[in-house]
Amino acid sequence: MAILNRLLSECIRDVDGLNSYLKLTSDDAKRIGEISERYPICIPPYYLKLIDPENPDDPIRRICIPGTQELSGAGVEDTSGEGDNTVIRGMQHKYRQTALILTTNQCSMYCRFCFRKRMVGYSEHETAEHVREMADYVTRHTEINNVLLSGGDALINPNSVIETYLETFSQIPALDFIRIGTRTPVVLPMRIYEDEELLGILKKYNRKKQILIVTHFNHPNEVTSEAKRAVDALIECGCIVRNQTVLLKGVSDDPKTLARLLNMLVSIGVIPYYVFQCRPARGALDEFQIPILKGSAIVEEAKSMMNGQAKSIHYCMSHVTGKIEILGPVEGNKMLFKYHQAKYAEDNSRIFVQELAPDQCWL
Ligand code: SF4
Repeated sequence: MAILNRLLSECIRDVDGLNSYLKLTSDDAKRIGEISERYPICIPPYYLKLIDPENPDDPIRRICIPGTQELSGAGVEDTSGEGDNTVIRGMQHKYRQTALILTTNQCSMYCRFCFRKRMVGYSEHETAEHVREMADYVTRHTEINNVLLSGGDALINPNSVIETYLETFSQIPALDFIRIGTRTPVVLPMRIYEDEELLGILKKYNRKKQILIVTHFNHPNEVTSEAKRAVDALIECGCIVRNQTVLLKGVSDDPKTLARLLNMLVSIGVIPYYVFQCRPARGALDEFQIPILKGSAIVEEAKSMMNGQAKSIHYCMSHVTGKIEILGPVEGNKMLFKYHQAKYAEDNSRIFVQELAPDQCWL
């Protein structure tokens, strides 16, 4: 059996499985069972073991075990206009230079805060079908200089599928690099360091086109020796590894925790990039969002504890109109914003000030 299939077959996908690792109350078990019928559960044993079973507020537990608010119904399904940006099934073209491909709806762990909860784990309606058709689009649009293979988790595709994408897109001259969006180094690192076939593919195509891994650590407890082994293996294949994180209530909404996470990432060779404001996604908003004013204060205090490399972050919200950087307060509750990436040319680098309500979490 391929390594990936074996590892996925070991994942915990129901309440009975969770009960063998955690002390669930009967109320918890009932609630989690109900939620899993709407939003699937899947957790590798490796990741479950990072939870302190004695701590009901354990941050890893919050990331992977459904909370009490998940079925509240608040929020929206598509927070950043992905439907409108779709040009071919599975491929979005929102920013001039970037094509984003939803290569799969599968992940080895379904994060409870995921902004693609509308599709991950159960709906394949938005995932890519025809690689050749997408490659032809990218070739025709010479303004596109990079492709982001996302999902779901792009490294949960079979190795043959990953190779097809890399082989196809590495031949397009206008592309400077190929990005792979993945939580695999964090939640299932052995899928990387045990799989010589996958590492061989990454090494081979890195010689043709630079591969950039965008991973997604959210808490210092995720930065384990196994995760470091996965990062080391990726770097040995020639990949550049960067991180984006989401500011999450009860996980990373503390300056010391955020600073520790980002400093630790630099120490294992992962350069932090985005800190994202949690999106108002249905099934995630009530459980995880924090107000923008509070988020800005956390990020600024955390920066005072970071080295310059860790501080290369941009605190952004992925808005329908673009990636808007939250620069900091100007006076009172007025916040300074700047478009880091704009959907519309007139917004390129535009700076603006907006007054925020103390509990406002989105624009
Ligand atoms: S790994 Fe990424 S796509 Fe999958 S559930 Fe987590 S955040 Fe969503």
